[in-house]
Formats: sequence, structure tokens, C-alpha cells
Amino acid sequence: MEKILQRVIDNNRNLYKYGKVADYIPALKNANIKDCGISIIDKDKNIFSAGDYNKKFTIQSISKIIALMQAILDIGIEEVFKKVGYEGSEKPFNTISYLGENKTEKAINPMINSGAIAITSLIKGEGDEKFNKILNLVRTLASNPNIDYDRDVYISEKNTGDRNRAIAYLMKSKNIIGGDVESILDNYFKQCSINIDTIDLANIGLSIANRFKDIEINADIDKKKISSLLIAIMTHSGMYNFSGQWSVEVGIPSKSGVAGGILSVVPDKYGIGFFGPSLDKNGNSLLGHSVLKELSKELNLNLF
Ligand code: GLU
Repeated sequence: MEKILQRVIDNNRNLYKYGKVADYIPALKNANIKDCGISIIDKDKNIFSAGDYNKKFTIQSISKIIALMQAILDIGIEEVFKKVGYEGSEKPFNTISYLGENKTEKAINPMINSGAIAITSLIKGEGDEKFNKILNLVRTLASNPNIDYDRDVYISEKNTGDRNRAIAYLMKSKNIIGGDVESILDNYFKQCSINIDTIDLANIGLSIANRFKDIEINADIDKKKISSLLIAIMTHSGMYNFSGQWSVEVGIPSKSGVAGGILSVVPDKYGIGFFGPSLDKNGNSLLGHSVLKELSKELNLNLF
């Protein structure tokens, strides 16, 4: 397996030059655009890695999956989906347009920024408690108690997050979120700044792929139902307005983040973590697309 991973990385890594690192969050500009790493963990917990798999990066939007799970654990599926919808979106991750006049009174889905901020608002807790719950769930799912957040990225995002601030205040005016907007945003910016590597992501992917069977959760809710829901949402919204093409070409439910990470789940088989900060125009890792597409073909992982 490691030889296959190395070969796929070698075949694709020069494509980095067709993308660019995220710069709308200034601290993310420091990433090395050439980085490209992958880890796969199988059901027996064997770990296979290649490339720059030991680099740390911030989880960014991949945290939206964990926050969604925490909100479901706190208030249940039905309550959560009163405030966000299930449908995919053809608009970019930071779109504001669904929140305009006479449009839906829900955020469109939990994977674009509006829906994700609404999800964070639904997690029970005051002050930093929402974030701490998300951080603890990331640590549990990744089997890594040392995971923490990157203070520089958090401050950088907080200082420049006016678009997310606008989205959040608009949602408050429409009653989609309630409470202290700045505190909700603070929790959201912190959750996006959680520092991880590809092995952490692969472990999180395996927890979902395994239907959380080794994970203890404090809620009276079917773990298999939660994993099916997360996998469905990743399939139609995880790669933003590229999710359809991703499903056709890669066929592995995945969630990306603007720091270049991708979390992928092969149900009942593998968890996969990828890192490559050169992004395409949709904000997804450009190398992640080409590497996972080739790997999916090579290992016959396309679910469809
Ligand atoms: N923290 C980022 C934002 O809210 C997350 C976006 C992403 O990873 O796609 O803009």
C-alpha cells in the first residue's frame, strides 16, 4: 500500500503550480504550496502514509462535520435540521445569496459557512464551551488527546472574518441563529483553527467509516444513523460546488478545508487524510482531487 501511495503522490505532485494557497485568511499564506501528503488507515488500524504526511495544518471547514455531529448529539437530528437544510448548493462556500430577501429561512446546508455557523450556534454551552466540545470530539475521533488549536490562525481569521460576521448577523436578523453573535463566531473561528495532520484526519475518517463502533458517546442516539447522515452530507456538499463532479470522478465521500486538508471516508473500509494547500477555484485541494481520483481508481474505492 505504501508503494502505491508514494507512486500516486509522485505522479501528481507537480500539479501544485496550477493552484494557489488561500490568502483571504492572512496566516494561511505561510503554507508551502508544494506540500502533498496522504495517510490511509484500514479497519485493523494499520496506518499507511506517504509524502508530507507529518505536516500540521488547520482543519478549517473539515471541522464542520465534527460540529454537526456535536450539535446532533446535543439536540438531535430533527432540531438541527429545523435551522439548516439538507440540500446541496451550486454556490461557493462563503455565499451570502441564500440569505437574501424572500429566500429560505434556513441556512442551505451544514457545510457552507452560513450553515456551519448556524450549526455551531446550536451546540449547547456558554463562552468557549461549544468550541471545547468540538475540540474534545476531534480528539476522541482522531484518538489523539494532544490536538489543539493554532492561536495565530485563529487571531488572523477573527481579525479578517468580516464576511462570516456579515453572514452571522444576517442569520440573526432572520432568526436562524440566536444569542451572542460575536461569541458564536469566536467559537467558529477557533474550531476552524484546530491543528491536525493527515493521520488525525484518517483516524477521524475511520471512526466514521466504522460507524463509531469504538467510540463512546453520551447520547441516546443510534451511532450508525449519525455516520450515515454525515456520509450523505459529505457526498452532496462536502466539496462545495464541486461535490457532484467529485462524486463522479472520485466517488469517496469527503470534506475539504481551505488550508488544504481533505477528510475521506470509505464506509466500512478505510479512513483517508490528505494534505495539499494548493487550492483550485472552488477552495478545494487541487492535488487532493488528482491524487484521490487516481487512488480511487487504483484501489477500486469509488462507491458509485
Ligand atoms: N475558516 C474558513 C472560513 O470560514 C473555512 C472555509 C473553508 O475551509 O472552506 O472562511
